[in-house]
Order: sequence, then C-alpha cells, then structure tokens
Amino acid sequence: MKRLLGIPAMPRMTPEQNAAFLTHRAPLRTHMLKTAVITVLGFYLGCYLFDLFLLRDVAVLGAVLRFGIVLPLAIGLLFYLSGDHPIERKEIAAILVAMFANIAWCVIMLASDSPAVLTYFYAASTFQMAITLAAASPFRPALRASIFTFCLNYSAIFFLEGVSLGYIVQHLVVYMPTVVMTLLVSHHLEVEGRIGYLQASENEALKRELSRQNKDLARLSVTDPLTRLSNRRGTDLELLRLRNEAPDDAAKAILLVVDIDHFKAFNDAYGHGAGDQCLKRVARAMRRALPVDAHFARHGGEEFLAIISGSTPDTATQIAESLRRSVRQLGIAHDFTGDRNRHVTISIGVTSGSVASTSAFERLMERADRALYAAKADGRNSWRVDIAETEEVTFPIYGHPVVEPQAGDEETRVVA
Ligand code: GH3
Ligand code: MG
Ligand code: MG
Repeated sequence: MKRLLGIPAMPRMTPEQNAAFLTHRAPLRTHMLKTAVITVLGFYLGCYLFDLFLLRDVAVLGAVLRFGIVLPLAIGLLFYLSGDHPIERKEIAAILVAMFANIAWCVIMLASDSPAVLTYFYAASTFQMAITLAAASPFRPALRASIFTFCLNYSAIFFLEGVSLGYIVQHLVVYMPTVVMTLLVSHHLEVEGRIGYLQASENEALKRELSRQNKDLARLSVTDPLTRLSNRRGTDLELLRLRNEAPDDAAKAILLVVDIDHFKAFNDAYGHGAGDQCLKRVARAMRRALPVDAHFARHGGEEFLAIISGSTPDTATQIAESLRRSVRQLGIAHDFTGDRNRHVTISIGVTSGSVASTSAFERLMERADRALYAAKADGRNSWRVDIAETEEVTFPIYGHPVVEPQAGDEETRVVA
C-alpha cells in the first residue's frame, strides 16, 4: 500500500467500483448518521445549560437558536435520513445542518458580553468540530466541513469579548492538533473501509469464477469431448437421477445399443480424422432422431447407448428404425462395408425392462448386446429386439433393409 509520510493512500477505485462501494455501505452509513444526529443533538441542546451558566446575557437568544431553529432542523434531518435518498445527499444534508448549528453557536457567543465567553469558546469550537466530523465521517466531506468550521471559528474569534492575539495563538495550539488527529482517524477509517470492500469484492469475484469453473468441470466430466454427447459417467449419473427422482420411469425403460458397422475398415481406408468426423455426424444424426427426453451417450469407441425411460416396449422398434434410417440417410461414403450402396450404417440391439438397480441395468445391457450381435450376424444395417421370456410379443423383433428390388432403399422388411 502506498504511503505518504506514513499515511496510507486512499485505494484507487473505478467510478463503477466507487458507486458500488457507496451503495454497499449506504445502510450502515445511514444508521451511523442517525445515531450521530441523535447523540450530538442531545449534547448540543444540553449545552444550553452552559449558556445559562456562563453566558446569562444571551440565554433567550440561545434558547431560540438551539430549540427554536436547530432542534426542528435536526428533526427534519432525521426524517430525511430515514427516507429513500442517495447516501451522498444524506451526508450533505447532515453537514448543512451541522454547519448551521455551528453558525448558531458562534452567533450566541458573539452576542455575549460575558468575560466567560473566551473559556467557553475552547469547548464550543472543539465540540463544533466533533459535530462536523460526526456528520461527515468519509474523509473528503469531513475535510471540507473541518475547513468550514475552522474558517468560521477563526473569523468569529476576532469579535469575541476581550480577545487578544495571545489568546488566538493559544486557541490554535489546542484546536489544530485536535482537528488534524481527528481528520487522520477519519482518513484511516475510510482507507480501511475501502480496502475491506475491494478485498471482499475480489473474494466474491474469485468465488464466482471458482463456482463457474466447477460447473464447467462437472459438465466436462460427463461429456464426451468428440461428440459432445454424455459419456459413461454421464449415463451412471442419469441412472442415479432416474432411480432417485423417477423410480416409476426407471422401472420401464427402453434401451438401445448402437454400433457403427465396419468402422475399423472406415478408419483404415479414410484415416482417423475422417473417422472422427464420421463419428460426430453419426452422433448428431442419431441425437436428432431420438425423442428429446431420451438419454443418449457415447458408450465407448463407435458404440452408443440410448435410454428412453418411462416408455413401453412397443415404441422401441420405431425408435430403432428411425435411428438406422437417420444414419443411413447421411450418405457417408464407405467403400468397405457390406451396405450395397457403400454408405456408413449402424446396427442396433434393442431391449426393454427395468434400470431401477445396477444389476437390473447390467442384465438389460447384456440382452441389448446379445440383440446387437444378432443384428450384426444378420448382415448389419439392421436392428434386433431381445425380448424377455415372460414378455408377450406384440411388435416386430427385427428389421433390416430390403435387398431386392433396388428401389425402396430406406424401407425396412419387418418380420414378426
Ligand atoms: P463391426 O461392424 O463388427 O462393429 O466392425 P467394426 O470395424 O466397427 O468393429 P471393431 O470393434 O473391429 O472396430 C471398431 C473401430 O472403431 C476400431 C477403432 O479404430 C474405431 N474407433 C473407436 N473409437 C474411435 C474414435 O474415437 N475415433 C476414430 N476415428 N475411430 C475410433
Ligand atoms: Mg463397429
Ligand atoms: Mg464396436
């Protein structure tokens, strides 16, 4: 921190930071101002007893100025401070009332012919300074208000009854160090307040950044970087979520395991980069073909997994067929596949049942894998349904494109 003669410099703030700082401290500052007004007003009115005791010749004037003018002004100020006004205006209002109270006190002393006025002036001017500082504890307004009080007092002092140059010098010796020390305290307090605010804002910004990074990290840890689909961890989390939040849906799910046909040959022929591009396009096409609420993940390599929870098995084959078509219709050239049009195709293993527990999910995966191998064995570019023995079959259990005639390439021959 920069220092000048041991005094810490005011930390630099942008206009936005300054505005935010003022807004942040407004409630506390309003509370402090109100407390200061009530306390100082008590003292100010209490000093009427000193007026009575020391300056009896101006007792009436003292009563009029203190109770007739300053008291209503202070009450008005308290109402203003309770209102919804910018804190800077509240501070200016408090300083104006404090200045008026100072002037009133000077008028009382100037009007008196009592010799006691010289002694009283010490106490009065010190107290006036305290009023001014209490009303304007931020450093800059406090400095301005102190300069005003200083000018006021050292203008008035020349007109006091019985004043001499020696008295003025003595007064300065007492008054000046008090003003300087009080201003130093006000400066320190404001520096501390601003540094504290800047540090708290920095901590807050760091916390926000950390929380954003944590969210990104959590998202990345369940995302496959190539296809942007969920990965296996994402599937595990989705299954956990289903079991906790929707157990009924977890009890009846459709599961599809998808594998790209002859993908090794694709990589060998066109290179790994082209293989990656193919994976991305196939993944995107399948995502679009699936129901929006389906969980779809890259299960590993060129294998994908779709879970449609809360679904009856009869929709499974339609979904499988639309997946098959969506990839076949991409028309990605593949000269080394069994597809007669030499395009990239997929095979799908379909099953349905419960994913309500890890073992139930594993059993379902085994059955889907079995169905997938059957689809592969059946010539690929097709889907197979693995039906539990207890299940009543009311829908087709496998499908693949017709080979003859040539037209109707996208149609599926379904054998029940
Ligand atoms: P099948 O029709 O029986 O599934 O044959 P296949 O060639 O697709 O199956 P195989 O398991 O023999 O080969 C899978 C290939 O997938 C091997 C591997 O190079 C490729 N592969 C797996 N992950 C990626 C990847 O992230 N990028 C690329 N480009 N290729 C991948
Ligand atoms: Mg494959
Ligand atoms: Mg495979």
